[in-house]
This record gives sequence, C-alpha cells and structure tokens, in this order.
Amino acid sequence: MNDPQAGLRDLLAFYAEAGVDDVLLDEPADRFAETAQQKAQRSAERAAPPAAAERTPRRDDGPAQRRPVAADAPPAAPRPQTVAVPDGAQAALARDLARSAATLEDLKQIMHDFDGCNLKQTAKNLVFADGNPEADLMLVGEAPGRDEDLEGLPFVGRSGQLLDRILAAMGRDRTSVYIANTIPWRPPGNRDPSPMESEICRPFIERQIELAAPKVLMTLGNPSTKLLLKTQEGITRMRGSWREHVTAGGVRIPTMPTLHPAYLLRNPAHKRLAWRDFLEVRARLLTFS
Ligand code: URA
Repeated sequence: MNDPQAGLRDLLAFYAEAGVDDVLLDEPADRFAETAQQKAQRSAERAAPPAAAERTPRRDDGPAQRRPVAADAPPAAPRPQTVAVPDGAQAALARDLARSAATLEDLKQIMHDFDGCNLKQTAKNLVFADGNPEADLMLVGEAPGRDEDLEGLPFVGRSGQLLDRILAAMGRDRTSVYIANTIPWRPPGNRDPSPMESEICRPFIERQIELAAPKVLMTLGNPSTKLLLKTQEGITRMRGSWREHVTAGGVRIPTMPTLHPAYLLRNPAHKRLAWRDFLEVRARLLTFS
C-alpha cells in the first residue's frame, strides 16, 4: 500500500542531510499567497489609478492632505523584514562600534544592538563568550552551531564536550579559560560564513581579544586561524608552532593554532596532534606564573 507520508519523510531526510535542521519562523509563511496578493494589488492599481483626492500627496497639496484608506480595503500585505545587506559600510560601522567599546560588557551590548550582520536575523541568540574573561588563556572557534545558538554559549554541543575533556586533561575548565568565536551568530544550516560576514564580525572578536588581554591565545581550526593570524596557510601547516596575534593597539599575543574539536571528532587519530599543542600551551603558561 502507498504510504502517503513517505514523500514528506524523504523530503525531511533530504533537508537533514543538507544541514537544514532548524526552522527560521515559528509559523509557516505562504510566499505563493503573498506574491499573488501583491500581483493582484498591482493590477488593481494599474486598472484604476487613484482619484485626485486619493493619490499620494504632493508637496504642494498642503498639510491637510492624507491618502484616505477605504474602509473595505484588504489588509496590507505583511511588510518584508528588513535584512541587513552585508557590505563594506556595515564592516566600517562594526569597526567604529567595536573601537568604542571600553569593556567586554560594553562590547556585548554593542553587538547585541548591532543590526549590520544578516546572520543575526536567523540566529536565536548572540553567542558572545563563556568562561572567565580574566583567564590567562583564550580559545577562539569559528561560529556557533545549533546547540550554541539555542543556549547562547559557545562550545556546548558535541565538539564543546570534547573541548571540555581536553581542557580537563590539562587541568583546566571553564573557570580558567575564556572562550569565544570569530562569528557570534549561527549561520543558517551551519553553512560557512561568507567573506563579507566574516569581515563584518572581525572587529568584534579582535576587540574582544584586546579587552580580555589573555597571555596566550589558541585558534581552533582553519577559519579563526586564518582570520586572527592574517594568513592563507591551512591549519595542518599552521598548527603546533607559535605565532602572534597583533591587536589593533599593537599588542602581540603568543598564539597557538590547533585542530578544531569538530575535526577531531571526525578524525580521532589526530587527537594526539591537538594534545601536543595543548601541552605546549600549558608549558608556556607556566612560564608566566
Ligand atoms: N564550533 C565552533 O567553532 N564554535 C562553537 O561555539 C561550536 C562549534
């Protein structure tokens, strides 16, 4: 017998495999009905141009002119949400705003209020940081996933659990490290952030590092390594050697790039390489105490 739900199940399975694992709106939006309504509205306007009294007021109509709304007029189509276009102007604004933050709390508020990154429109929460901002070690990942987006905290999903185990093995936990991401809003479906989205978010993480002022920084995976060390080299070549992150104010922070925990979950044989990097960091931190 034909299973009427089979098609729906196949479609959902296809979405899940493609990484579409979350909904953007609580209620479904019928885009076909919206388009039909807009078309009908346009053809009605073409067929009957507004009478003089109903046309859009002109500058010389005087202050009393208002476009009357007919009592039986259909409800206006929902106005499309304004989505920020990621462009150079937003990146410049982000740079100015980030520079103006005097404390991490300021910066968090500024990022919370910033509407210049389109990723914010689909994310549920700003994922600013976790851990201790006074810690001598700061770790920077790429972008929040689904679990991080729901909780508003970085590295709380499976890769975060692995990170916690690595930290525990080196004698640390979230009270003695500070954790953030280069992108503070989850990209929809966990897609890669675009170069412009990364450019818009870059001043925020740079200022966050500058304000937290850790003694040592670790970049987890390719994107944060490339962004914060201004390199095109891949993580497999970069990891394991000391580099420097230079803040906008010119402070040089010793930085160890290492493999991303999500990569280690897929390639457990490489955990020993990451472990070597964490041990190297532990040894360096001991020289500061
Ligand atoms: N991967 C990241 O890079 N950051 C997170 O917060 C979670 C997963």
